[in-house]
Amino acid sequence: MILILFGPPGVGKGTQAKILSSQMKIAHIATGDILREAVSRATEMGKKAKAFMDRGELVPDDVVIGIIQDRLKEDDARSGFILDGFPRTLPQAEALDKVFRKAGIKVDHVISMEVDRGLLVKRLTARRVCRNCGSIFNLLIDQLNDSVCPRCGGELYQRDDDKEETIARRFEVYQKQTKPVKDFYRNKNMLVEMDGLGEIEEITSRLKNILK
Ligand code: AMP
Repeated sequence: MILILFGPPGVGKGTQAKILSSQMKIAHIATGDILREAVSRATEMGKKAKAFMDRGELVPDDVVIGIIQDRLKEDDARSGFILDGFPRTLPQAEALDKVFRKAGIKVDHVISMEVDRGLLVKRLTARRVCRNCGSIFNLLIDQLNDSVCPRCGGELYQRDDDKEETIARRFEVYQKQTKPVKDFYRNKNMLVEMDGLGEIEEITSRLKNILK
């Protein structure tokens, strides 16, 4: 199964991709996670990416396309994968198309999760992530004790780019650079738009219905 999960910041792509990848035993490939890891390890790529991420802007296409090309070569991607947060620009979508065509890979589904922007801003500012296991929580729904991860005891933190001042910029970037990717897949008759509003389990079953 090859699935591209698409949608604006905070729509729940990461949460759903994690659930589906563990249930379906396929890789979860999130460029945002790979970049954050590179930033925290202060690699050359991480240092280059950090300034863009802190401003809520996109990391240059050549960097992320390189990340994806390397990641797709790893063993766990052989049995299928979910792309979360990639492609995010037209050049990325075109590059991916080329890689897939060359490798004879067929995308099974491109699902765009849709939620009203006002709610997304509320969700993003309330998002907390575990520094240790990467679990995602939300102050609006999860009962959290201090800043401790209920799954592993790790420290919960707020992503720098989830702070209010950066969120506005991320939406601008989404509107201008990422939304055209939707038309790219729509023109290929590959796009399914899905209401992303509801409880986590509800959204998972909505997604699974499309994947059936
Ligand atoms: P995310 O975790 O998907 O919200 O990504 C966090 C940040 O990482 C984004 O705001 C971008 O700065 C960067 N990023 C993640 N994926 C991409 C991508 N496909 N292209 C460019 N930048 C990306």
